[in-house]
Parts: sequence; C-alpha cells; structure tokens
Amino acid sequence: MIVYFNGNFIAHEDIKVSPFDRAFLFSDGVYEALRTYNGKLFHLSDHLKRLKYSLKQLDIIFNDFERIGEICGKLSDINSIKPDYSVYLQISRGVSIPRTHHYEDNLTPNVFAYVKPIKDNCKEINEGVKIILEKDLRWLRCDIKSTSLLPAVMANQKAFKSDAYEAVLYRDDFITEGSHTNFFAIRDNKVFTAPLSNYILDGVTRKVVLELCQDNKIDFVEDYIKIKDLKYFDEFFITGTITEVTPVVQIDDWIVDDGKPGRITRKIQELFFKELK
Ligand code: PLP
Repeated sequence: MIVYFNGNFIAHEDIKVSPFDRAFLFSDGVYEALRTYNGKLFHLSDHLKRLKYSLKQLDIIFNDFERIGEICGKLSDINSIKPDYSVYLQISRGVSIPRTHHYEDNLTPNVFAYVKPIKDNCKEINEGVKIILEKDLRWLRCDIKSTSLLPAVMANQKAFKSDAYEAVLYRDDFITEGSHTNFFAIRDNKVFTAPLSNYILDGVTRKVVLELCQDNKIDFVEDYIKIKDLKYFDEFFITGTITEVTPVVQIDDWIVDDGKPGRITRKIQELFFKELK
C-alpha cells in the first residue's frame, strides 16, 4: 500500500518514524477520518474546520490544509481505489528528544495519510444494528479529535466481543455518544441528541442530519438522553462518516420495538441518501 508521509507517497513498509515521535510516546496528535461519494470528498470543509480546531486546541502548528484534498485524490489514484474510498489522516506534534511532557514550539509535525476501500454496510443500514451501553471513561476534551483513544478502543472491543456494532457511552446518568459515532433517539416524532460540548465530538454526519431535520420540519432538540429514560424512546440511530445513518434495533438485551428500524429513522436515512445524490 502506498501511503502519504511528510510530502512523499511511499510504500508503508518503507516509512521510518522515530520512537520519539510524541504521538508514539504520548498520543500527542490529532486525526481526521473522511470519505468520498462518487469520488468527491464528503463535507471536506467541515472536516478541515474540525481538524483546524483540534490542532489549535493542542497548539500543534500545521497550515498546509489546501493540499489535503489533492493528497487524498492522489492516494486513491496510486492505489487504484476508486471511485470511493475512506481516508485516515493523522498529524502528530512531531519528534522531541529526550522524552519530556512539555514541548518546544518549533517541532515539525509528522503527517500521515492513507486511503482504503469502503466496506459494504447495506445490511447494517437496512436491518439496523445492536449496540451495548458502556461507561464513558474518556477524558473531558472529547471535542478534540485526538489520537488518544484507549477508552474508546476498550469500549468498542467489548462491543465487538458482544457481537454489537458499537458501544454507546454514558457519563453519570446521561448518554454522550458512541465510541466512534454520535447517538440519536426519537420519541413522539422528535429527534434527541446530546448537545455540543466537551463531552462529544462535533460529528460532521451529526451536523448533516440536524440540518436535514431543520430543512424538512422534523422536530429535534439537542438535549441529553438519560439512561433511565431510554425505555420511553421509540427509535434510535447512530451516525458517522462510515456508519452514515445506521438504525439501532437492539440495546444490550433489549430488542427495540419490533426489532426493525423505525419510521423517522427511515425518513432521515432517505433524506440523507437523497442529499448525496
Ligand atoms: N463521535 C466520535 C467519538 C467519533 O470518533 C466519530 C467519528 O470518528 C463521530 C462521533 C462521528 O463523526 P463524523 O460524523 O464526523 O464521522
């Protein structure tokens, strides 16, 4: 596989990264995950905006945003992954020797990107998925798309072992989001999702869904969903760049309603896929 590393398109096995890279030692880096539809990067400007925000929060100096679209296109060409692909882009703070928690201002970030084909998710989209509920053990800056993901990894691994698609996380008595998705619930035709805060990532798909609700007169509110109230909701779904709008039909052992995706979820999926066309 040919990947991008600091200005070069190079076989991944030929890359040399110092173990003093701060992403290796401290998870001191940020990332973005994007995808294309019909060969075009979906909401590239929203992803770049979030990337800039994450970099700014961590005080990592990187300004070469203009080239990102071109790099993705070239990676898809070189690797013959067309027309659609997903992208992983990571920017670490760079190398500093010896290891110290603090850092100098003049470090050079290490920039890494690769593309891969998008896995077919028709079954999940059509039939819905199981999720499990897990305690949110993440830090208090989940608004930053940092490479420090161990609590999300642990929760998602538990989901994997439980034959679930996702672990949806709760803090105290309310739901925040999934390990790599945003979470939505519907009651009496009204869509609920956690408000933007330091507890969740500002998902690009979340934003698209809320805009679709707004434009199509689907009632919605950005408010926390309490764990104890879950049983009063009629429908659930999760969103993400790869997850798109995926219905949730089982939460732990609870089969939601008749175990089929709900009516409003279907409507939102329909609007989402229509927008893509
Ligand atoms: N929440 C978390 C914690 C995520 O990691 C992601 C995506 O990776 C999302 C939500 C969904 O964001 P997006 O719709 O931008 O893919």
